[in-house]
Amino acid sequence: MALLDAIFCCLLTIWHCQRGLGLPLAPSGFQSPAPAVGQFWHVTDLHLDPTYHITDDLTKVCASSKGINASDPGPFGDVMCDSPYHLILSAFDFIKNSEQEASFMIWTGDSPPHVPVHELSTDRVISVIANMTTTIQSLFPNLQVFPALGNHDYWPQDQLPTFTSKVYSAVANLWKPWLDEEAIHTLRKGGFYSQKVSTNLNLRIISLNTNLYYGPDVVTLNETDPANQFEWLESTLNISQQNKEKVYIIAHIPVGYLPYSMSTTAMREYYNEKLIDIFRKYSNVIAGQFYGHTHRDSIMVLSDKKGNPINSLFVAPAVTPVKNALQKQTNNPGIRLFQYDPHDYTLLDMLQYYLNLTDANLKGEANWKPEYILTQTYDIEDLQPKSLHGLAKQFAIPDSKKFIKYYNYFFVSYDSSVICNAKCKAFQVCAIMNLDHKSYVDCLKQYYVRHNL
Ligand SMILES: [Zn+2]
Ligand SMILES: [Zn+2]
Repeated sequence: MALLDAIFCCLLTIWHCQRGLGLPLAPSGFQSPAPAVGQFWHVTDLHLDPTYHITDDLTKVCASSKGINASDPGPFGDVMCDSPYHLILSAFDFIKNSEQEASFMIWTGDSPPHVPVHELSTDRVISVIANMTTTIQSLFPNLQVFPALGNHDYWPQDQLPTFTSKVYSAVANLWKPWLDEEAIHTLRKGGFYSQKVSTNLNLRIISLNTNLYYGPDVVTLNETDPANQFEWLESTLNISQQNKEKVYIIAHIPVGYLPYSMSTTAMREYYNEKLIDIFRKYSNVIAGQFYGHTHRDSIMVLSDKKGNPINSLFVAPAVTPVKNALQKQTNNPGIRLFQYDPHDYTLLDMLQYYLNLTDANLKGEANWKPEYILTQTYDIEDLQPKSLHGLAKQFAIPDSKKFIKYYNYFFVSYDSSVICNAKCKAFQVCAIMNLDHKSYVDCLKQYYVRHNL
């Protein structure tokens, strides 16, 4: 293991030297060159459980275990519980001490714990989001952060409204240090916004409130365009296109199909189809899409109607390790760093970091470390749609070693003995490559025929 660690360290050093920031890239005497690579962090699904504490009564370790025994609680948490503050702080401390130069951070929502509705309130939800916001602001006073709201960032959970509310207003105030006036205005009205990353970058973040499209949200039932977000998104993308900007889409609930179940979209199907249409129309403007919510690590590739790959999408794993009593698997806590080309914002690479929770609790210290580097672990050129599409095709090959790796990373290396059978693999592979109903159904059919399922 020590040898493996050493090899990985070596690989990392090479990687950082080739692509990392902060290294001289031109002979001295030249004016300071533009960095060869830009970087940004992605954190998601913190799910703080303020009740977490170590006690002999395992049913009382955390409210988020809902009376079920915690499994092996330690200072950094337990798989039956949402995150103790200590775990979240360890993640941000790691980012702070990593010495990676990042131009911004994206934070895709879900701060409150998974507890029954009556154990929270609007004020409690706001106070958890405020706690997380001030934690980030005090640790990173000079870092630009772009948040998105999650389905748990509301009370009652999932019921995000199409009009202004106490929560939208509270986050608009909390996030003022990061956002400009126009962004604050739409955030307060509907929970979404867009903003240029900075005046000298031609990159815009569009933070969508996709919780409005989530199945359990009864507020938006039968609405064709909740909060007029589709209309706003199209016009925002249109203006970006005219201004020759590039856009990163960030949101909590992802588009596409859930990779662990059959024919289930993460949001209502009608809204999924609408979003896919818009993303296809503006795929030349959109340089990347970043989501959370599933708590798992997965990729998706959006193709046009002819099947050509046109967009790369990334779902980041959660910081919380929580699972419910019926689930065998969960995820180790994870955070990630993306690298992009500062000239056109195309995505070059992604480095996934994780915390082995069992190990951290045993040693009493949080040893966050790299889990994998996307291009190196799969031997691909970059994170462009073509490269990811080629990778997904390799995953589909029976007994693909790359897919076995992917499935282990799906759970953030929680259990390397986990096996994905033929059906499980069909759901995974079809969800990576097919985001709309028609192509997804075709994919499953073909897979079923080919593999005699
Ligand atoms: Zn979540
Ligand atoms: Zn969620």
